[in-house]
Amino acid sequence: ATVDISSPKRTKDIIAKYGFTFKKSLGQNFLIDQNILRKIVGAAELDETKGALEIGPGIGALTQQLASEAGRVTAIEIDNRLIPILRDVLSDTPNVHVEHGDVLKLDLRELMEKQFAGLTGVSVVANLPYYVTTPILMKLLEEKLPLENIVVMIQKEVAQRMAAKPGGKEYGSLSVAVQYYCEPELVCIVPHTVFIPQPNVDSAVIKLALRDKPAVEVEDEAFFFRTVQACFAQRRKTIANNLTAYVGKANRELLGPLLEGCGIDPSRRGETLSLAEFAALAHALRQAGL
Ligand code: SAM
Repeated sequence: ATVDISSPKRTKDIIAKYGFTFKKSLGQNFLIDQNILRKIVGAAELDETKGALEIGPGIGALTQQLASEAGRVTAIEIDNRLIPILRDVLSDTPNVHVEHGDVLKLDLRELMEKQFAGLTGVSVVANLPYYVTTPILMKLLEEKLPLENIVVMIQKEVAQRMAAKPGGKEYGSLSVAVQYYCEPELVCIVPHTVFIPQPNVDSAVIKLALRDKPAVEVEDEAFFFRTVQACFAQRRKTIANNLTAYVGKANRELLGPLLEGCGIDPSRRGETLSLAEFAALAHALRQAGL
């Protein structure tokens, strides 16, 4: 039987054997808990007809687990020191392809077409480097890659913001952006102790199930997201005040009737608006040429 890479002893052995030193700047916190790995992989609902795209495999703890469930795994790692280690520790898993590169710079669509041809669906599964969580997830979503779901370990606060419903203080432009494309589900909260080295923040696993089409219909996505940003510009201010800064003082008088026309009380705050209300508001602003 193959030994789990994630066992604390095997992890320490690999690190010692190759003289690996952790780079904080690359968000290197490796998982050493088989139960958490099982939970992550389980949430992705893989089988041999599916592909798994992993971002940041480290020394391959999650990669190994993915390889036993998915038909094919492609793992993108930026740190060139890890490439020979991965090739070595994963030499018994022929369905894994290791790609050396920066996930933010790679052409993921092309990579997916090449690596996952013939499979019935692809999931992104990763213990993400926390310093670039949001850019990575927004790249995956905005490029509209053909993904079924995204299951990732991220900072707990970021996970809670992504899954937040209108009305709470965690709800913001990130919640709207993520929920526009996906249905989020918080899978579990994860203690510091399952990593080496241990991160300074709490972690959580979140599952983002990609919607067949966006949650709301908008004519112009860039305009919609600019509107959302504008409403959250200063969280203590009302929508009317935030939007005044956005459309300019000269257009201020138009805002009251425009908001009323959308059924939105101008004295509300951005954090209370649903995606449907943001969509109606963006539509009205666009119609009014604001
Ligand atoms: N998957 C491993 C595990 O769970 O033990 C390692 C996870 S560690 C939190 C994040 C990994 O992402 C590191 O191996 C790091 O080198 C890699 N990484 C950081 N920035 C990256 C980027 N821009 N593109 C690809 N990989 C990156």
